[in-house]
Amino acid sequence: MKVQALLFLSALVLLPSCKDDDEEALTSYITCPDDHHPHLIDLGLPSGTKWSCCNIGATTPEQYGSYYAWGETVEKTEYGAENYKYCTWEDKNGNGKYDLNDGDPLFQQIGDDIAGTDYDVARVKWGETWKMPTLEQINELLRNCTWSWTPQNGINGVRIVGRNRGTIFLPAAYYYREDRMPKQGLSGFYWSSNPYLDYDASYLMFDSISWDSRHYHRSFRYYGYPVRAVSK
Ligand SMILES: [Zn+2]
Repeated sequence: MKVQALLFLSALVLLPSCKDDDEEALTSYITCPDDHHPHLIDLGLPSGTKWSCCNIGATTPEQYGSYYAWGETVEKTEYGAENYKYCTWEDKNGNGKYDLNDGDPLFQQIGDDIAGTDYDVARVKWGETWKMPTLEQINELLRNCTWSWTPQNGINGVRIVGRNRGTIFLPAAYYYREDRMPKQGLSGFYWSSNPYLDYDASYLMFDSISWDSRHYHRSFRYYGYPVRAVSK
């Protein structure tokens, strides 16, 4: 009887734990342990959200990485309404670009939270459990960490330190607007996974003196912003 009980208990201990989303958790750290980025950084956040140490398309924490229009997963050389994948203007002459008109562009609505969907560049590029951050996760990062404008290896950006001393760096990568090159080093813009009304999407914005989550009120989804991924 004792042997049977022991076997039964052993079986219980050995059973793999079942998680809700059936996803395999990645190992997290409070600082990068080596040069094999991206790492998952634990900033001691209440929700348990962990942040990546580097941007999508970057191979170090300071690199700006890739820029994407909201909901797109391919880099471009121009980020205008006329070549935004989810713009619903017509392409009357068939040149591959939507025709400009006097009104605001109209967008196909792709959901109230694109994290983890086919519109999520973090999921598409990095797979596993990576996702774009929600506005709530960006606000949690703003509320629960110490932010400072602290250049790293000569690149302007913010150093974010959690209550557990976990640390990430966000480079001031700026953004693409139409064919204008980003004013890198001046300020930082990072997409959230949440749209704002029918035109914009919410994002993180920071410069040398302030950091906040924002949205615009018109047509910003086609601008090219970098993405900093999260996971749990
Ligand atoms: Zn790293």
